[in-house]
Formats: sequence, structure tokens, C-alpha cells
Amino acid sequence: MTLTLKTVDHLISSGLVSEDQRIDMEKIAKTYAIAVSPLLASLINPDDPKDPIGLQFVPAISELTHTNEELADPIGDHAHTPVKGIVHRYPDRVLLKAVHICPVYCRFCFRREMVGPAGDGSLTDTELENAIAYITKNKQIWEVILTGGDPLILSERRLRNIMTVLSKIEHIRVIRFHSRIPVANPERIDDAFVSALTASGKTVYIAIHSNHPRELSQPMKEACERLQKAGIQLLSQTVLLKDINDDAQVLSELMQGFVSLGIRPYYLHHPDLAPGTSHFRISISEGRQIFEQLRGYISGLCQPTYVIDIPGGFGKVPVTKDYIDDTAPECIRIRDYQGNWHNYPPRP
Ligand SMILES: *Cc1c(COP(=O)(O)O)cnc(C)c1O
Ligand code: SF4
Repeated sequence: MTLTLKTVDHLISSGLVSEDQRIDMEKIAKTYAIAVSPLLASLINPDDPKDPIGLQFVPAISELTHTNEELADPIGDHAHTPVKGIVHRYPDRVLLKAVHICPVYCRFCFRREMVGPAGDGSLTDTELENAIAYITKNKQIWEVILTGGDPLILSERRLRNIMTVLSKIEHIRVIRFHSRIPVANPERIDDAFVSALTASGKTVYIAIHSNHPRELSQPMKEACERLQKAGIQLLSQTVLLKDINDDAQVLSELMQGFVSLGIRPYYLHHPDLAPGTSHFRISISEGRQIFEQLRGYISGLCQPTYVIDIPGGFGKVPVTKDYIDDTAPECIRIRDYQGNWHNYPPRP
């Protein structure tokens, strides 16, 4: 398999879905983009309907079930967008969303209404200039976080241009990428590509999105080595997902896998309230129970911070008693970093 699977026909001919699922799959494909990279497709056992890689990328009929608490913009990106492509929610850092396509489409994606060929599109050259102008003008911005979509899907030329422009902004000290490419298409990360990601005088981080130890393939490991050799710092981010990694054993293996590769575990995300993703969600108390089984049993280096993004754009907070009040049986309340409390799930 050498091509990314992008259509229902591709999925059927690869054996990942059966012919009698065609009608449902076509229905899902009308709303949400599909892509499974060759490497990840090769890691799926097509005979196992609960394969942890397959569940992440092969569409499921449950995606057509939308529940009341789900939100098109679950983490409130739109509320904090001063210019197209920028999300400025916290004082010292911004998201720069230059692109809205991904190498693979995770079925649980929190930005699923914005990503994909039919999503928000990529920034034009002028829009990118305007976004950079916003960063240049706002001197309290210390860190630029390239996300999207997947920023590492951009051409080497465009990445190099962005890094060159950012490296000239004095108040920017750190440039961070959030990406699935090291897991989905590690072959893309060759030496020339790596050199496009460095910027003189800035520290560069890549937070690698990975949810299951089987995603840590040999080609992925080699790509990480090439990035590290260039001085790029690697972090992990993982989404806690029902039937995929809602298990202390699997999470331990994943975190130890990261640390063995020199990747520092950063965030374990509680799943967001994205449309058609209820089959991936577990409750906060279930999540906490699983997460607590890591502390002490595996190295302190292997402990991510378990976080939840408060719906509506109030930011991420740790899922701990300091921030979560679940003493009232009918509704959980979450405190944001500014001290305000919010109902979870939110109620109109
Ligand atoms: C998640 C996020 C960040 C990064 O938050 P950290 O806690 O620094 O990782 C920044 N801006 C926005 C809008 C975010 O959603
Ligand atoms: S790579 Fe990230 S943005 Fe893209 S589909 Fe997966 S979760 Fe969404």
C-alpha cells in the first residue's frame, strides 16, 4: 500500500470496511473527511473490529449519532480569533493555523467541523502575512504554536518561509508544532525537511499526537531521531479514548514508549465534545480512575498532565480536585485558570 486511503472505495478495496457498509460510509464521508496513511493502514488488523488503530481512522456508523451536549466548535476557537488563522486565548502564546488539512483524519477530532478539504481552507499568502503582522505587533506573544490541521503537511518551502519570518520577530522565543506526521507519514521527515523546521535563535518543539503504543513504528522512531539530531525538542500529546487507550496498561506502555524515544509526555487530553464522537468518550471520573493508576507505578518521566479543554474557549486545566468540582451529582463544574467556574457539559 503506497497511497493514502481517502475514499470509501479505497477503504473497501483495502479490506478495512466491507461492501455492505458502503451506504453508511458514504453518508459519513459527506460530512467528515477520511484519510488513512499507508503506514497506519498497514498497522491495522482488518479482521479485528476493535483494532485500536482502525478505530481511530476507519469511519464508524456511530459518527452519525449526535448528542445534545456536542458542539461544532467544542473548544471555542472562533471566540478568540482576532485575525484569520490566529487563536489568541492566553496572554503569552497564540495558535497559528496556516492549514486545515491533515495526513490522516482522526474520527474523534476536536476540530472536525473545521478540518478537511471542505473545512476552513488554508491561509492565502495575504492572510498569512496578516496573521504574522498580528504576532509582530503583539509583543506579549512569547510562543507561536503551529497547529491546524497539521502544519507539517505544508510544503518544505512554505514551512521554511514561515520559520524564517518568525525567526526575525524578537519577542518570539519558542515555536511549537502540533503534528500527526511523525506517526502517520514519518518518511516525509527527511534531512531537508528537518532543516526547514529550525529557526536560528528560537527553541523549536514538536508535540507528537499519538494514542497507542502500536503507533510507535520503526519509521516513526527513525524520524524522531532525525528531528532530535537537529536539536528539536519532542513532546507527546494523547487523547484518552474509549476502547483505544482507556486502560492503565496501554497508557503505561505508550508513555514508556515515548520516554524511551526521548519524547517527553506532555498532555493526556480528556476527549472533547466534538459532534458524532460519543462512542469515544468516557466520563471524567472514569478518566481520573485510569490516570491515577499511572502515578507511582511508572517513572515520573512518564507522567503527562491529564487536561480538559473547558467548552466555550476558557482554556485547558488539569483534571484534578483543584479544578474539578464533582460533588453535586447532577452537574460537574470546572474552574478555569482565571478562577471562573463553568458547568460541564455546558448548558444553554
Ligand atoms: C491548547 C492551546 C494552547 C496551548 O496551551 P498549552 O497549555 O500552553 O499547551 C494555546 N492556545 C490555544 C488557543 C489552545 O487551545
Ligand atoms: S491530526 Fe489533529 S487536527 Fe487532524 S484530524 Fe487528527 S486530531 Fe484532528
